[in-house]
Amino acid sequence: MKIKFYGVRGSIPVCGREYERYGGNTTCISILREQVNRIAILDAGTGIRILGNELVAKKLSQSVINIMFTHFHWDHIQGFPFFAPAYIRNQHIGLLTMGKKRKIKNLKEIFSMQMQKEFFPVQLDKMGANFEFFHYGIKETIYGAKLKAVAQYHKFRGGSFGFRLDDDDVSLVVCTDVEHYRGIDKKIVELAMGADVLVHDGQYTPDEYKTHKGWGHSSWTQAVEVAKRAGVKKLIITHHDPDHDDDFLDVVEENCKKAFPNCELAKEGMEVKVG
Ligand SMILES: [Zn+2]
Repeated sequence: MKIKFYGVRGSIPVCGREYERYGGNTTCISILREQVNRIAILDAGTGIRILGNELVAKKLSQSVINIMFTHFHWDHIQGFPFFAPAYIRNQHIGLLTMGKKRKIKNLKEIFSMQMQKEFFPVQLDKMGANFEFFHYGIKETIYGAKLKAVAQYHKFRGGSFGFRLDDDDVSLVVCTDVEHYRGIDKKIVELAMGADVLVHDGQYTPDEYKTHKGWGHSSWTQAVEVAKRAGVKKLIITHHDPDHDDDFLDVVEENCKKAFPNCELAKEGMEVKVG
């Protein structure tokens, strides 16, 4: 399994020289399962635009592209209208929400509303691709890899979903937009147990978290604590605050590495081999 970060920013995209090294696009990660040469996409933040352009340039070799959503806050869907494969006639695109108990009654409505004519010139049904909408359960498979989803605390329990992919003997866990509201969440530690790679929200410094409790995100120290308790091999911290420029994030990364040596901050364009 190989992952690539196309967007690592939380809340809103940013641009400017001071954000060049970590990147300004919002959350989007591609997950390549090499055995079958298929990619799945996690979240459609603004980073998905570049990923879509790359897929089209490579002349898409996969008949179905699945996009999994941790939740539907703006920073995780705002790139969707600019995803080039969605404009290819007969391209199949699966839009997946995770966790059957989720109170999303009409998944299609989320996207058709986002693209209604007052907001966007092309409506969902006119894009061209064939969309399918799935409510994934707690345990499923994706391109043959086992997928497990857990309800996270993000303003409320189930406000977002974290997931784990087990593929033969390697495992990837992604928990973004997660808050450890009443101390480290045992469910997240359990989900991440022994993972090869844990990608975890770390939007705030410990000091910032004190004034952002209840906002739905973690501090980098909490991400490190989860990594330690779960005994993961590698930790990648993501969902960088839009107010944190490259120099600021360099210092955060330095501190993270002191606390957990095999740790780095996610950067746009970064590729990581899992396992
Ligand atoms: Zn977010």
